[in-house]
Amino acid sequence: MHRDMVEWRGQNPPPGTIMIISDQVNGDFSWDLARLQQRTRYGLFLAYSMKQCNDYLLVYFANCRWEQLLEEEEGGAPPVVVAGGELSSAAMFYCKSCNFNCQSLKKFKNHLSSYKHGMEDAITPPVTKFLFATKSWARSYPASPEHATAKIHVLWDMNDCPIPEGYDARQVRPSIERAFKERGYSGPVSITAYADQKETPVHHLLALSSSGVDFAHTLPWVHYSRMITDFEIWTRDNPAPASVMIISDEVASSKSRSKIICLKLQKFNYNCFLAYSVRPSETPLLVTSAEWLWESLLAVSEIRRHILHKCSESERVVASTGMFCCKLCFCDCKSLDAFNKHLSCKLHTKEEHRMLSHTQSFRRSLRQFKISKYHDRVGCPPKTKRMRKAPRKGFLPRPLRFTRG
Ligand SMILES: [Zn+2]
Ligand SMILES: [Zn+2]
Repeated sequence: MHRDMVEWRGQNPPPGTIMIISDQVNGDFSWDLARLQQRTRYGLFLAYSMKQCNDYLLVYFANCRWEQLLEEEEGGAPPVVVAGGELSSAAMFYCKSCNFNCQSLKKFKNHLSSYKHGMEDAITPPVTKFLFATKSWARSYPASPEHATAKIHVLWDMNDCPIPEGYDARQVRPSIERAFKERGYSGPVSITAYADQKETPVHHLLALSSSGVDFAHTLPWVHYSRMITDFEIWTRDNPAPASVMIISDEVASSKSRSKIICLKLQKFNYNCFLAYSVRPSETPLLVTSAEWLWESLLAVSEIRRHILHKCSESERVVASTGMFCCKLCFCDCKSLDAFNKHLSCKLHTKEEHRMLSHTQSFRRSLRQFKISKYHDRVGCPPKTKRMRKAPRKGFLPRPLRFTRG
């Protein structure tokens, strides 16, 4: 069924609509379908009898119960197919094993009980294993006309992909832009770098901001969520066609963690790029038009730059200062001085402490919750002589209980 759908897609370019009536749109099937959908969007309707497809990467118009669907038709149009001998001649019968098709039920039944069909089934039994249509997809495509001059937004996780030691930070933007141009993308590029910016060396901050890179100050535990929020805000003003580049190991390798951002990209139908410091062991969830290893992306430019310098000394980055934003207090600063001042001000320090203690208390409650669940399962800890003497030092005899359900 899946293979037929892939074939049909090849013969019928969008716009078009596909309806799948099956309980098996899940797991590998829906993953493959979602990836196919990322590249080429068809309207998608799903119908199921028992098991609803809950894969939220898939963008569909309707996901409804099969029986309900049939009921809705009742009393409306006259029945199309009459069961029994007389059949509408429009329907085709296919035997997928022998590549045989016919329009008559009688012929089809004869075929299925024929020696030839039995032989074919015995020699090449029907494939039961799921065949991925997208697993071997190459990852580098030239720009399509609608994306060639469209905006490109870059979300850069500086924790995962830091600036290599001894590397001139001013070259980050030109390197990224050059890599885009090589593939035919020449639209305006905006870059936001996410990290605990107190840890970023000042010369990097200055160099990057002089090339128009924006900074977002985050802390590790809100790092990813702030990135997603920012991206969502960006989408409001920048509908597709546009490209989004994500520089992050987390999005490249962790399927569960990257699901949220991949879903958003899927929904908005953006063209995607990915860069990572380590090549992921599995195919990333995101369907990309190009992928790079972070260091090779930067090094590419270094070689080119060397050549370019020989040709023209005038090659300079146009200075447009990037913005500095504290994503904890949601405070925007136009200069590095103002940003540094903010990061050391009382209000900001208070916010950081509040966040830190919140996270710590969350971890503590989670631990307590797990302990109490364990006690629910195996009973309270055995009371030993030592524990009776000093109950406060050992286990909590009756741990804090959380209401469940
Ligand atoms: Zn056959
Ligand atoms: Zn702040």
